Amino acid sequence: MVKQLNKLNNFLNFQINELKQNDLFYSLPVFSSASSDKMLLNGNEVVMLSSNNYLGFANHPRLKLAGINALNKFGSGTGAVRQIAGTMDFHIELEKLLSDFKQSQQSLVFSSGVAANIGVIASIMQQNDTIISDELNHGSIIDGIRLSKAEKKIFSHKDLEKLKQLLKDSQNSEKIMIATDGVFSMNGDIAPLKEICELAEEFNAFVFVDDAHGDGVFGKEGKGTIDFCNVHKKVAMEVGTFSKAFGSLGGFVCGSSELKDFLVNKARSFIFTTSLPPAVTAANIEAIKLIQEEPVHLNNLWKNTNYFKQELSDLGFDFGESISPIIPIIVGESRKAQELSRQLLNQGVFVKPIVFPLVAKDKARIRCMINAHHSKNDLDLALDALKKAGKNMKLFS
Ligand code: PMP
Repeated sequence: MVKQLNKLNNFLNFQINELKQNDLFYSLPVFSSASSDKMLLNGNEVVMLSSNNYLGFANHPRLKLAGINALNKFGSGTGAVRQIAGTMDFHIELEKLLSDFKQSQQSLVFSSGVAANIGVIASIMQQNDTIISDELNHGSIIDGIRLSKAEKKIFSHKDLEKLKQLLKDSQNSEKIMIATDGVFSMNGDIAPLKEICELAEEFNAFVFVDDAHGDGVFGKEGKGTIDFCNVHKKVAMEVGTFSKAFGSLGGFVCGSSELKDFLVNKARSFIFTTSLPPAVTAANIEAIKLIQEEPVHLNNLWKNTNYFKQELSDLGFDFGESISPIIPIIVGESRKAQELSRQLLNQGVFVKPIVFPLVAKDKARIRCMINAHHSKNDLDLALDALKKAGKNMKLFS
């Protein structure tokens, strides 16, 4: 027994040291204020540029009130998984509202976007099936693929020619799924959904989209990338999350009634976990109402995003193909990304470095994320800090 514990400790220490030596070790910054434009980190106020709280809903009075009322009425938890005794009328209300918002026949709520991706892909795709996946898809899509028994084929990022070739090669498969993010979370670019759907039609495949970063950001009223690309009804299943623009927690999938019935019975990450608590579900319901009733949040998000990008570009920074509020500044080595992030923090701006395994080893970056609640002052402070750090580190001429 002691020997095994020694082995375990040696293993853990070896792995940790290796991460530290390669500048890949993540520690957890601890904040002591609500998610907002400025937050308290170790007692100091920092401008937050690493939050997915795109619309500022995470601390919005309407979501808070909805959560408090639900907590008072229904308590802190549901006491069971959905299939047994954990489905309450507020879960059904949320799914109905979400289906209407997304213009889909049905929707099903999971405990997180990760759980939705894993549960949907692993339950639907089986032996003799093929999943064709963009190389930059989110880790939880990759985990879903790993858990499924289907054959996996990867196409280089947004490479439609390669996708076409892989589709041609897969024609003997029973089912063929093309899996893609809507918005790519580390680059801020979006998938060519129109072309992907056309290829799917031509080669008898169906399309799976994870729109975690498109929800509440792209499309009319923030309906997402599918709405933005006008491919409603052409996407067989759309996964999303309430944890980003919608300001709370929970994942979901939108699609047909059959899809919902199947997943309720077969998706293991749905079946074996307790349902979302009342306060969270009520906040999600309120978020969907709020985004439709108050366009000012979405307008502010884009106003801030456009301003920040224009100024950044004038400074000489390159943010690749980003067309979203996700703005990567790719510096290459992880050491450099850590250094840039440190220099920004010293100037009161929090931007977490993004290193392997979140991105390829030679594509370390900082990723600035713009929110609706950032003031011009916040953005100017961040731009000034980036200018100074960029000069120090010779990131531009
Ligand atoms: N998909 C993508 C593209 C994401 O960026 C994330 C969040 N990191 C998820 C899915 C998972 O969402 P959740 O936080 O709800 O698990």
